[in-house]
Amino acid sequence: MQARLRIDRHSKSTQNRFTSVRLDRLVERRDDRDWVQRAMRSDMARFVPLWRSRSLIDDSGEEQLAVYLGPDELSDLDAIQPPTLLGTDGKRYFFAVSINDQQREEVIERHPGAKFVDLRRASVHMDAKHAGVLAYAKALHYWQYRQNFCGICGTPTVFRSAGHKLVCGNEECAREFFPRIDPAIIVLVTHGNACLLGRNVRWPPKRFSTLAGFVEPGESLEDAVVREVQEESGVQLERIQYVSSQPWPFPASAMCGFFAEAVSMDCATTDELEELRWFTVDQLVEAVMSGEVLLSPPVSIAFRLLAEWFENNNGGDLEALTREARQRLKSA
Ligand SMILES: [Zn+2]
Repeated sequence: MQARLRIDRHSKSTQNRFTSVRLDRLVERRDDRDWVQRAMRSDMARFVPLWRSRSLIDDSGEEQLAVYLGPDELSDLDAIQPPTLLGTDGKRYFFAVSINDQQREEVIERHPGAKFVDLRRASVHMDAKHAGVLAYAKALHYWQYRQNFCGICGTPTVFRSAGHKLVCGNEECAREFFPRIDPAIIVLVTHGNACLLGRNVRWPPKRFSTLAGFVEPGESLEDAVVREVQEESGVQLERIQYVSSQPWPFPASAMCGFFAEAVSMDCATTDELEELRWFTVDQLVEAVMSGEVLLSPPVSIAFRLLAEWFENNNGGDLEALTREARQRLKSA
């Protein structure tokens, strides 16, 4: 039995989507090839298929379901590369497996309600644990794809540690590579009772969200918050508070969420953001209900930050509000 973790913010981060992987990752088994082979062929094996980085989801019913394949459903497990050991929930051993076009057709034939989709679009109505398993598989799959070749000598890499390490195939080089994620900050800037949302030029029409950006080499997370907010909006900050984090495998980020207080409401649009607006709770309710503003999907930490601010400022449940707005706009 694992001791109960007492980590500041841990409980908050677990509420963010894609973080709820409560799998035992079986780190100590990864280098035991015989054990991995036996686990892969046992009745407990479940494969998370990835086809061109897309996840297999059945949304023919009320709820979206992650579809896992049994040990007999794929004739060739190594069609593209060996499966990757993800871990166990005590009942099953989960593996990620890349499949080719022909295997995709066979899988779809066997699971007629299922489709390969972009996980970002598919995870709103999915059980948190399974959304987490799919996100974990997708993140590793992307890193393996990106690290197909040695970055030093260009030789193809080979799988080690059940997919958690890639080693250069050139014996003289033999460089080892480990999974990479790109840290990014995401921040809800407030001043008084208002919050700042921006509109990126590349987003769908009417979408407004929190400010965000990648952490640069040589920066702390807090430095990145100050710089990104300054670059994107010209806003000066006087207080920064860490809130929670979220793995974001689109393609390979770790999002670190913050609240920040601005010195004033002075701001200016930039090349990246074509519009910046301050909203009080009442103004946000009005903008969302009228369809003037569309927020990021509730799976995102951007939405969670905004929802927490909204609730703390007596706005109530932001997710319920956006659902109501969607229904109202659909029937209008
Ligand atoms: Zn090399």
